[in-house]
Amino acid sequence: MRVLVVEDEAGLRESLRTQLVEAGFTVDVAQDGEEGLFAGLEFPLDVAIIDLGLPKLPGLELIKRLRAEGRTYPILILTARDRWQDKVEGLQAGADDYVVKPFHFEEVRARLQALLRRAGGWASPQLKCGPIVLDTRAQTVTVEGRPVELTTFEYRILEHLMLRAGEVISKTELTERLYDQDFERDSNVIEVFIGRLRRKLDPDERLKPIETLRGRGYRLALAREPA
Ligand code: CA
Repeated sequence: MRVLVVEDEAGLRESLRTQLVEAGFTVDVAQDGEEGLFAGLEFPLDVAIIDLGLPKLPGLELIKRLRAEGRTYPILILTARDRWQDKVEGLQAGADDYVVKPFHFEEVRARLQALLRRAGGWASPQLKCGPIVLDTRAQTVTVEGRPVELTTFEYRILEHLMLRAGEVISKTELTERLYDQDFERDSNVIEVFIGRLRRKLDPDERLKPIETLRGRGYRLALAREPA
């Protein structure tokens, strides 16, 4: 999942970046509203964290511009002031949720995951597709109750596919949302990871969880199950 952090306080920005990377996100950062607008329009984001008090372009204005330009990814706002007006104005401008500073990183992480889940149409933190269960809190995967050991990158691909189960996701999109900007992008690598995921999730090729649509991408092909 690719997240943009727009925050002018360098210490907070860097600590969010570090912790989000550790939590498995691909992270872009911006230090003012103008940089945030550029990144928010140009990068293929899954979610954005936007501080309301920003130089150059205020957070509220940034959110309005992103929404006006048709960007629909979830936005979590950070506000230093525990004033109800800020939260209301932020939500009215098009944000989806808020966290009041100072916060614990775990709260930000939990809210981001809830936003991503809801954006994908999931109500519960456990994503179930057929016999595959992915727990977004524990970051574990089971198939028919059997635990499956995945590497971090395999997990991130599966989480992305399952959050948007039923949709076709192109190799380019997977590459852009799962690799950092400075990482060499080679979409052929995605094929290798998909092959490994298939072997781990479905060693005897009964379930066929991931469908390849030639020239279009991949789709998690098992039906979503209620939690
Ligand atoms: Ca600020």
